[in-house]
Amino acid sequence: MRPLRWLLCSLLGACTTAVPPGTSVSHGDSANGWLQGGVPLPDRGPGFVRARPGESTRYGIPRLITALERAAAVVHRRLGGAPLRVGDLSAPFGGRHPRHRSHRSGRDMDLIFYATDLDGRSVEGRGWVAYDRFGVGVEPLEQGGRVLRFDEARNWELVRTLLLDEEAQVQWIFASRGVKARLLRYAAEHEPNPEALFRAAWAIHQPTRGRAHDDHFHVRVACGPTQRALGCNDRGPVWSWWRDAALKRDRYAPLNDAGLLAFLLEGTPDPNR
Ligand SMILES: [Zn+2]
Repeated sequence: MRPLRWLLCSLLGACTTAVPPGTSVSHGDSANGWLQGGVPLPDRGPGFVRARPGESTRYGIPRLITALERAAAVVHRRLGGAPLRVGDLSAPFGGRHPRHRSHRSGRDMDLIFYATDLDGRSVEGRGWVAYDRFGVGVEPLEQGGRVLRFDEARNWELVRTLLLDEEAQVQWIFASRGVKARLLRYAAEHEPNPEALFRAAWAIHQPTRGRAHDDHFHVRVACGPTQRALGCNDRGPVWSWWRDAALKRDRYAPLNDAGLLAFLLEGTPDPNR
């Protein structure tokens, strides 16, 4: 840490406390960071339930939580059916987690795929079901052993809603190549808005390292300019469809020495953008 910043941090107690009470800050990046003032996702809401109710890995920055709540409600309102099952977000203060390499800074969430039975009826899955290239998966025996189908209509509705949500700034939707191909093929036949298809073609991605994600979506939102100014570090792309405020230069100076002085002298940006 450079001397001037160290001095200011010492005077303030800690740099990370130099934000107003109640502010959520995603510090660092999703694989090496932590979460300050995270917001918990309820165990259930319109169109969603948590797969591990009562468990604490359910914190995020407000923009992540509200994006999920909006998208689940849209799918529920338009198509009905079983609720979206939500896996892990981040621990109350982020940081390392035994089930994840990322999920550390309040910008990641796991969404278990919507499923139907073999007759096409929406069903609430149990456990985690991996789908093959035909879109068929089998529940673990201890959870019933049902044969399920990947619900293309509801999963696409979820993806398009997240990607067209201008507030959310979804950066990645990690999913296997097989799932991506299935969704894009469905969208090519049914999606009226070409922008949704374009965004999905870029933002759905099978992780280069780690698991293929054939049993859930892993959704990550970008830092956004204000979180970046508070210490959030984006490693991913800046998509062309993000609004100017997110796409172009930060509205606030980053917290280098000069930026920190400006921050102290000129006040605090809106923390939850
Ligand atoms: Zn994940």
